Amino acid sequence: KTGGLADVTGALPAALTPMGIEMRPLLPAYPAVVAALANIGVDIRAAPGTDAASAAGRVVAELADLPGGPGRILLLKYLNRPLYLLDSPSLFDREGNPYSGPDGADWPDNGLRFGAFAWAAAALASGADANWQPEVVHAHDWQAGLVPAYLRLSAGPKATNRHPSVKTVMTVHNLAFQGQFSPALAAPLGLPATAFTVDGLEYYGSLGFLKAGLFFADALTTVSPTYALEIQTPEHGMGLDGLLRARAADLEGIVNGIDETIWNPATDPHLAAGYDASTMERKAVNKRALQERLGLAPDRHALLACVVSRLTHQKGMDLLLEAASELLAGGGQLAVLGSGELALEAAFARLAVAHPGRIACVLGYDEPLSHLFQGGADAILVPSRFEPCGLTQLYGLRYGTLPIVARTGGLADTVIDANHAALAMGVATGFQVAPVTVQALRFALARACALFADPTTWRGMQQAAMRQPVGWQVSAASYAALYRRLVETAGPAGGREKT
Ligand code: ADP
Repeated sequence: KTGGLADVTGALPAALTPMGIEMRPLLPAYPAVVAALANIGVDIRAAPGTDAASAAGRVVAELADLPGGPGRILLLKYLNRPLYLLDSPSLFDREGNPYSGPDGADWPDNGLRFGAFAWAAAALASGADANWQPEVVHAHDWQAGLVPAYLRLSAGPKATNRHPSVKTVMTVHNLAFQGQFSPALAAPLGLPATAFTVDGLEYYGSLGFLKAGLFFADALTTVSPTYALEIQTPEHGMGLDGLLRARAADLEGIVNGIDETIWNPATDPHLAAGYDASTMERKAVNKRALQERLGLAPDRHALLACVVSRLTHQKGMDLLLEAASELLAGGGQLAVLGSGELALEAAFARLAVAHPGRIACVLGYDEPLSHLFQGGADAILVPSRFEPCGLTQLYGLRYGTLPIVARTGGLADTVIDANHAALAMGVATGFQVAPVTVQALRFALARACALFADPTTWRGMQQAAMRQPVGWQVSAASYAALYRRLVETAGPAGGREKT
């Protein structure tokens, strides 16, 4: 897991099952995946014919001609659900995270690695598993961007049983990551030279993996309706806005859900006291615990605003550094948990030193502590310059920790600003900042401080926030409807379970 992509691909299959859709994820057999399976007694490298090997599931395809390979596709059960693994040690059995080595530098052959991954997915879509034929392939981000290209160009893996009606969905989790590689990679990946054009694989002289997916897929999605509109503009389109405008009719925004079992204030083991919408007074116990833990003044009348974030320019953390004085002027406190750009880390650390008892900063990645931040703070700040969906504001809603967010992407779609009309209707759940500037952020902080001084109004907003559905049900239903639309247009040759 390196971000929201893993949350979606992890949660969606389970949420789709009750809707009558069987989704089988395919992922590379990274060392961490192999180790997690070993922990539950599954050894995917066990010698064939042994008990350990049969427990490891079965090899559904040997991919002798996998680019950069060889490789094989295994089918096994994990948490009682089917899971395909692409096992190709030369490509994926490496230390570090999925994309870079222990020194933090990207692997120089990432194009080959994820081109091969897409090749394997295209093989599965073309009948590589003799027992299962998908009707729709859902490709996530640039790593899977070539899947629609292979299928539409009839290139790559030799089809054992090619289904021309297999439909493809391409999802963008963050347009900033596009997977651009040398055109010389097209040949080893088995892609036809004739497809290296603007109407195909080319992105300004490079081989564009995400570009290819966006061009060839039957349907496109991204992780919020507002981001779906924003990426069609030059400002947020990162060079792909023209293509996205041309495909606007096929592009849909579907907001991510959160895991409501992990993020549940009533049962969260990392809180000092569990609470729900009817026991909000217990949230004060968590506020006191957080203040104590961070060395903040134990003042329950101070609006305690928090940040749980990568400390980067994208997240607007430089704007917050400048606007934080407004929070102090309103009697508030600031707690920051984050890591990222060194200059921003140092600046937040200095700010905390300059305001002891009022501003606290914890540098690092600490998941248990992030739960206490959500449980103990009154508000969570997310002043991002762009935000495809965002998760921390969704946790905030569930925990009655009112989000103060930039009006962009998924933040704009999930938080209802406390303007007069929304307050009068009782539907306000937070504060929106627009445009995303220091001045507008100051204004939002001042509004939050003023409303916090009115406990009845604040409590009403917390109740509205905690009522908002933020789990996977709504999103999964949207994906299910999309798959069904695609299959219905596929005609009678659509893929089916084979006998
Ligand atoms: P992005 O994926 O762009 O970083 P999201 O809001 O979609 O932003 O997801 C960020 C996730 O990482 C959230 O689950 C958040 O709680 C978590 N997170 C970010 N920084 C930290 C940190 N320093 N410690 C613990 N969790 C963090």
